Amino acid sequence: MIISMKLGATKQEVEHVCQLLREFGYKAHTIQGEERVVIGAVGKLENKQQVMDSIESAPGVESVVAVSQPYKFVSKESQPGKTVLRLDGCSIGGAEFAVIAGPCSVESEQQILSTAEAVKKAGATILRGGAFKPRTSPYDFQGLEEEGLKLLRKAKEKTGLAICTEVMSAEDVEMVAEYADVLQVGARNMQNSTLLKRLGKTNKTIMLKRGMSATIKELLLSAEYILTSGNPNVFLCERGIRTFETYTRNTLDLSAIPALAELTHLPIIADPSHGTGKRSLIHPMSRASVAAGADGIMVEVHVNPEKAFSDGAQALLPSEFDQLMQDLKPYLEIWKATRKAAQASSLVAQA
Ligand code: PEP
Ligand code: MN
Repeated sequence: MIISMKLGATKQEVEHVCQLLREFGYKAHTIQGEERVVIGAVGKLENKQQVMDSIESAPGVESVVAVSQPYKFVSKESQPGKTVLRLDGCSIGGAEFAVIAGPCSVESEQQILSTAEAVKKAGATILRGGAFKPRTSPYDFQGLEEEGLKLLRKAKEKTGLAICTEVMSAEDVEMVAEYADVLQVGARNMQNSTLLKRLGKTNKTIMLKRGMSATIKELLLSAEYILTSGNPNVFLCERGIRTFETYTRNTLDLSAIPALAELTHLPIIADPSHGTGKRSLIHPMSRASVAAGADGIMVEVHVNPEKAFSDGAQALLPSEFDQLMQDLKPYLEIWKATRKAAQASSLVAQA
């Protein structure tokens, strides 16, 4: 169950509820949200109604909701309205379609600065670039590490774009968090619970990518790790899954986007670059992601894809990215109108 405390509930009131829950044999996880404290309680089912009644009458409690899903905090049952994540100069999950663009890897100052300027001009809201690269082969480029993070910071200073970059291990979280606005958990680390719990101790925005063989439920349980550790600022990324198909690098699971929107209040974006592995498929799959109701897309862009240190085959040239942004305009008009209508009807339903 999820217990929402009243605005201004005191520390003692929160502790009292946690104490009551423990006495009933429940485990309590507390999250300090932007406005109020929310407590997630996990425990046996037999005495649920009795516990709910008791907690509901405790001082400082606003509401108690039973959540039937195995993931509690990320579940739509615990928060009917969508989470909106606010970053420097943009947001994810609200009325604005997020566009994260940039190279797979940060390679040099010239490369990242020119790409940053080009994607900003074309309309991207967040710059991406890997400084720590999870490569299949140990012989491949592993990333510039802190040097790459410094270059991303320079790009931010120059363009004002927020920065999204991957963090691969719990030990690196502190350092990467110093430079980045969005910490990316890559597909290969989606179930690294040590990393997820460490990210839960920060207040950074986290982009959690779906593992290449992970189910929707597993993705949501991974997000739950971050939330139960104390950080509610999470969004999800569908980046394609492994199927029997070999023509594409992965199969972009577009149905996961509306499916996730049915199950969770967390924003969801699509990554048609890793989702297909093919430059020619990024345009149609971006349009399809908008139509499926994604909150944004992430697209790899490189000034010289042929010479890219990683993922060149799926990178758009800056001019192609600009064209993509132009082509998406009419689709985004419909997206905005649909979003507005959905927000209006959810306000009516809540009233
Ligand atoms: C990336 O975003 O460059 C990346 C490595 O993605 P994924 O973890 O989805 O493979
Ligand atoms: Mn990549």
